[in-house]
Amino acid sequence: MSTATTTTPIAKTTTPGPQRPTDPATPVMRLRGITKDFGEGETLARVLKGIDLEIGRHDFAALMGPSGSGKSTLLNILGLLDRPTSGVLEVNGVDASDFNDAARTKLRGQTLGFIFQFHHLLPAFTALENVLMPIRVVRPLTKADVDWGRQLLVEVGLADKEKRKPGELSGGQQQRVAIARALAPRPALILADEPTGNLDSESSAQAFALMERAHIGYDCAFLIVTHDPRIAARCHRVIDIVDGRIQKDTGER
Ligand code: ADP
Ligand code: MG
Repeated sequence: MSTATTTTPIAKTTTPGPQRPTDPATPVMRLRGITKDFGEGETLARVLKGIDLEIGRHDFAALMGPSGSGKSTLLNILGLLDRPTSGVLEVNGVDASDFNDAARTKLRGQTLGFIFQFHHLLPAFTALENVLMPIRVVRPLTKADVDWGRQLLVEVGLADKEKRKPGELSGGQQQRVAIARALAPRPALILADEPTGNLDSESSAQAFALMERAHIGYDCAFLIVTHDPRIAARCHRVIDIVDGRIQKDTGER
């Protein structure tokens, strides 16, 4: 496999994302007393039981916990993909708890990037088109966007694959396209749900190295759900969630 991913430097960006807080001390996300219930009546289950959490502008954090402890549920709430049952959610210092769907979608697009365990690339589109998709869904693409998308593909070591469809790429390559796609909107925070969980060890190491580099090069915070203690050991902060509660947080603010 190409070693380009470990040799290509990610340039320091001079154009930070549009929704970074002006005060660097303001967390990107701040949760207070977040609960989440699923079901109703006899099947009601409280999955998140009061989460207080701040994700800082420069965090590179792992979220760990047993299967079923609420990691994905928490990520979906942080990602404005799902609404909490109760509690307060601030994004860049603004209370977004009562935002309507349109406002949440806009805020999500301006602030957040996502990487999932499965790449969720669109099979009919090329690698470059997939990278540019988060921009394309909010506005027409410009030449500068296309150049930016190409730069991201260079930086994930896939410059020669821009016209390939996902089906023509290996699992590791697909996930690197997904990482480039997450970076495309210049998000303040990337939420990654077991991003290396479906990769072999070499692809996993490459994908994680890219996230480390993007954290510095793009001034982007990361919250990475992982079961891999080697990955957690390289994160600057480890948050442990057990049965819907934060049990330990090495970076509590
Ligand atoms: P993790 O990602 O830590 O493995 P999840 O957040 O996916 O855990 O799930 C936590 C708990 O919430 C599990 O018991 C799961 O069955 C339940 N759960 C998650 N999503 C839903 C849903 N949409 N409806 C009902 N229960 C759900
Ligand atoms: Mg999960």
